[in-house]
Amino acid sequence: MAAESVSSPVTEKLKTANLGFPRMGRQRELKFALEGFWTGKHAEKELLDVASALRKKHWTLQHAAGIDFVPSNDFSFYDQILDALVLIGATPERFGAGTVTFDRYFAMARNSREQTAMEMTKWFDTNYHYLVPEWSDGLSFNIDTTKLLGELAEARALGIETRPVLIGPLTLLLLGKGVDGFDPMTLLPKLTKAYEEVLQALIAADVPWVQIDEPMLVTDLEDGVDEAYRHVYAQLAKLPVKLMLTTYFDSLADNLHLAVDLNTAGIHVDLVRGPNQLDDILPALRPEQLLSVGCVEGRNIWLTDFSAAASKINTAIAKLGPERVIVASSSSLLHVPHDLCAETNLDARVKSWLRFAEEKLAEIVALGRGDQAEYKANAEAIADRAAAESTTNPRVRAALAVLEEKDFKRTSPYPERAAMQRRKLGLPLFPTTTIGSFPQTPEVRKHRAARKNGRETAEQYDAFLRKAIAECVREQERIGLDVLVHGEFERNDMVEYFAEFLDGFAFTESGWVQSYGSRCVKPPVIYGDVARPKPMTVKWSEYARSLMTRLMKGMLTGPITVLQWSFVRNDIPRQQTAWQIALALRDEVKDLESAGIDIIQVDEPALREGLPLRHADWPAYLDWAIEAFKLATSAVSNGTQIHTHMCYCEFEDILPSIAALDADVISMESARSRMDLLDAFRAHKYPNEIGPGVYDIHSPRVPSSEEMHELLKLALEVLTPEQLWVNPDCGLKTRTWPETISALENMCKAAAELRLQLGA
Ligand code: GLN
Ligand code: ZN
Repeated sequence: MAAESVSSPVTEKLKTANLGFPRMGRQRELKFALEGFWTGKHAEKELLDVASALRKKHWTLQHAAGIDFVPSNDFSFYDQILDALVLIGATPERFGAGTVTFDRYFAMARNSREQTAMEMTKWFDTNYHYLVPEWSDGLSFNIDTTKLLGELAEARALGIETRPVLIGPLTLLLLGKGVDGFDPMTLLPKLTKAYEEVLQALIAADVPWVQIDEPMLVTDLEDGVDEAYRHVYAQLAKLPVKLMLTTYFDSLADNLHLAVDLNTAGIHVDLVRGPNQLDDILPALRPEQLLSVGCVEGRNIWLTDFSAAASKINTAIAKLGPERVIVASSSSLLHVPHDLCAETNLDARVKSWLRFAEEKLAEIVALGRGDQAEYKANAEAIADRAAAESTTNPRVRAALAVLEEKDFKRTSPYPERAAMQRRKLGLPLFPTTTIGSFPQTPEVRKHRAARKNGRETAEQYDAFLRKAIAECVREQERIGLDVLVHGEFERNDMVEYFAEFLDGFAFTESGWVQSYGSRCVKPPVIYGDVARPKPMTVKWSEYARSLMTRLMKGMLTGPITVLQWSFVRNDIPRQQTAWQIALALRDEVKDLESAGIDIIQVDEPALREGLPLRHADWPAYLDWAIEAFKLATSAVSNGTQIHTHMCYCEFEDILPSIAALDADVISMESARSRMDLLDAFRAHKYPNEIGPGVYDIHSPRVPSSEEMHELLKLALEVLTPEQLWVNPDCGLKTRTWPETISALENMCKAAAELRLQLGA
């Protein structure tokens, strides 16, 4: 980097802000307290104590780090959207009315025998899941400020003045669904009034600033939403409390003027995801409005480039003056792990490039203070990362550079392949199969843990896995499935298992991130070029195949899913990393084929969640994502059958892209919303073979063969008999063996009856 392009540190002492802190605790204390409470092991008091200790700790460390705007009300026992509904008195009617007790709170969040919980879905393009609001006419909108004011007071008792966080009214409304066709927009007057009351309560408590999160403003807004925003904020912005209108995960783009017009005291923008919006917003701001510059990334774990960030901050200061600029995290830090202290196994050099939540606080403060020493250390770390040879693999770069169009295409088009596969595989009509995993019993987990901490040798563990595979194969043959799998017992996780074989990945010990409720994930870190030094799954698939007389399906996780469920490097485009993973998988696919595995499934459940927030950015992503899958799967001969699998997302709007993957067979989750998927297939004819899941694997209920038969007949209204496969919605790892056996027996019976009926 040329010396001239290094921008000088910020010379003024700026105010600093954090938008939200991870709530689980350094050792996931909240998770264990919650789970202990749910199983009845702990009393409510213990949970409450753990939670309040965590809040205190988190406020104290943010304050001590030097953050001026420390958030409160970002804590949650389960989910901040559910909390927002409790706050404004709009929890779903079906769970009852009146003050929300702890029991009711968790009943809304968690399925029980008596009642299905609220639906859960992904928070924008993150891996965090929120509970979907259910809008209906009878909601009371009686506000309950207990938590909001309680946290405020708790922090004040520590001498810390916080900036409470609210989910903005329109974001809350738009993320919900109307019950039975109810139009949520009709609730606008009641909703506005509830938010006014909440703000009044904060005003009465002498709160100067409120962070009001409106990330919906970075998405394409439907007609009428613009007006709704203006309407609601005309009421809220005139109250005597300063609102920081907070946006993140992308640029405001065409909603920029709308955001400014809402006339809040300040606006927060995400300059990591939307770096270019700074130039647009600076001239657009109203004379008094503050700008919160989100330049320390809340979504990834890399160190911030201080020079680049300072250049943004300095541009803002030059236009607005230092008193109108705040240095902040780009989004809440909820999406990164707590801190790096526990990471003793990480390569020291890789570790020096990482920043988790606590380290990010230090970055925000160092940036805002223009700390010379910190800037110097940062520049050195950035330069070290850029120069590191460990991140570049010349062999991988060379392989990517010589790719040609033919590397992304099967030799022959689907109809020709299908004819060959039919001859070669000899499958019946309506072939039955599963999605890959079989029950991960306590025994499986026990052996994995024993292997991990060295109580079991590699030989002992292998012997156990062989036994598990053999039993699984035997059961599948007995049940009468047509295409068998090995059961995935060796896999702890569908991404980590592969990542552990691949170059370019690092693993943390405590890099946990909340996924939903008490559930956390520990994404691997992709720090360098990805390569496959040796086969990853061939041994197990080969072993399983040696045991069976029937067809065997090999199982891999697709390139986009590996990418999505990892922390991805930010020094090369995501597309390049995806294609590197694809090249590694391509070798694995070829090795499986050479080992005599004629059917290979490459799972891509995360294909859709990689979609950018703005529609305009979809085609570019879908292009390279589809190419990644094709790169991974198209090196096989025509007679080898490639499967893929997708689940738990809305496929409807990306069906053409799914078809473009050109997998010979796709299995898709659909039992829960069968009609939607089939309607989509009616509208967009799916060309290849498909197994719409015939039963929901999340339920312990064993479906009857009759109901699965009905579903198959429904599917045949839009698919030809040659197209239709028979399988569950997803993998069976969370089920027990007795449930699994009964359900699969019924499933095979349903397929057999269908064959009889059609005289096949
Ligand atoms: N093959 C994987 C399994 O069966 C697929 C899991 C998934 O779709 N998330 O477990
Ligand atoms: Zn699935």
